[in-house]
Amino acid sequence: MNITDKFSRKLRDVRISVTDRCNFRCSYCMPKEIYDSNYKFFRKTEILSFEEIIRLTKILALLGVKKVRLTGGEPLLRKNIHLLISHLKEIRGITDISMTTNGVLLTEKKAKLLKGSGLNRLTVSLDTLNPENFHKISGSKYSPLDVLSGIDNAKNAGFQNIKVNMVVKKNVNHEDIIPMLDNFKNTGCIVRFIEFMDVGNVNFWNKDDVTSLEDILNIISEKYHIKPLEKNYNSEVAKRWSYQGGEFGVISSISNPFCGDCSRIRLTAEGKLFTCLFANKSHDIKGLIRSSESDDKIKNYLVDMWSDRDDKYSETRIVDGKYKIIKKAEMSYIGG
Ligand code: SAM
Ligand code: SF4
Ligand code: SF4
Repeated sequence: MNITDKFSRKLRDVRISVTDRCNFRCSYCMPKEIYDSNYKFFRKTEILSFEEIIRLTKILALLGVKKVRLTGGEPLLRKNIHLLISHLKEIRGITDISMTTNGVLLTEKKAKLLKGSGLNRLTVSLDTLNPENFHKISGSKYSPLDVLSGIDNAKNAGFQNIKVNMVVKKNVNHEDIIPMLDNFKNTGCIVRFIEFMDVGNVNFWNKDDVTSLEDILNIISEKYHIKPLEKNYNSEVAKRWSYQGGEFGVISSISNPFCGDCSRIRLTAEGKLFTCLFANKSHDIKGLIRSSESDDKIKNYLVDMWSDRDDKYSETRIVDGKYKIIKKAEMSYIGG
């Protein structure tokens, strides 16, 4: 079954946040001033169980969802995540399962378990190769070498074309763009530069901190000869280029929004559904799942919810030359 929203966009992907906790405190996502020892993360009973996630994904698959991305917080903090993946893998209609992780928990053993469970693709986030800068940005005790070793373990376990996400902030890490491309040249990894986004309300977002698509291409062109590549598929979020050394991408939600073919729904760890990364209202699906409602009833609820969808935040965030100020969900909660 195919369902469409108010702009005829189909429902195709679900991003599932499996935990709101993280072992990093990236300044643009979970600034440590806010996510400190007093911060109340969800208790175990508050977050969806694997069974609940599987049940909901089965219903979403009936409505046309084909791709699942596991995220968080840090998804590798969720115990036995490979078991969830192996169950999701069995769902009829689900053709692709991926994960976004900060990479430091990708031990040899974990990488093999993930590969064995049927995880198709991995995205690892890495904002700089400079240890000092890494420490500052990630607010963690780790070093870029820990992430690189996670990537190596994933490659050795058989993952190919691993994507490496780098959020670029002006005067924070824009000088790391070239070193990142140099490092991942001819490795098969695809670096994706992400414009710093105005997700949530606590990351002190300011448009002056955004290194735009244009800035990124200018910086890269000083060293590399680049050529645009075709989209791999319709709702792909990254624009792609080739350079001498492989391919890179740019996710430019600020300067070049891509709401037109957005087919994504987002499920938070505590069981709320969001029809947009920037939505300020959510749908309590956990309440329905934990009541005695039938799958059919939940399915009808989801059909109504998607039919009613008219989100286009990235295309409408500027009103009269000013950025809209609205209350939004935080990135570590909604999962990116
Ligand atoms: N912890 C995992 C990780 O960092 O890969 C998964 C969750 S994280 C919220 C998902 C992605 O969102 C990461 O690649 C991260 O860099 C990106 N991200 C977080 N906050 C962002 C922001 N304000 N702007 C752009 N990207 C952001
Ligand atoms: Fe954690 Fe990922 Fe957010 Fe960084 S971006 S704080 S690693 S959830
Ligand atoms: Fe999709 Fe919302 Fe992002 Fe637009 S702003 S691409 S509708 S998630």
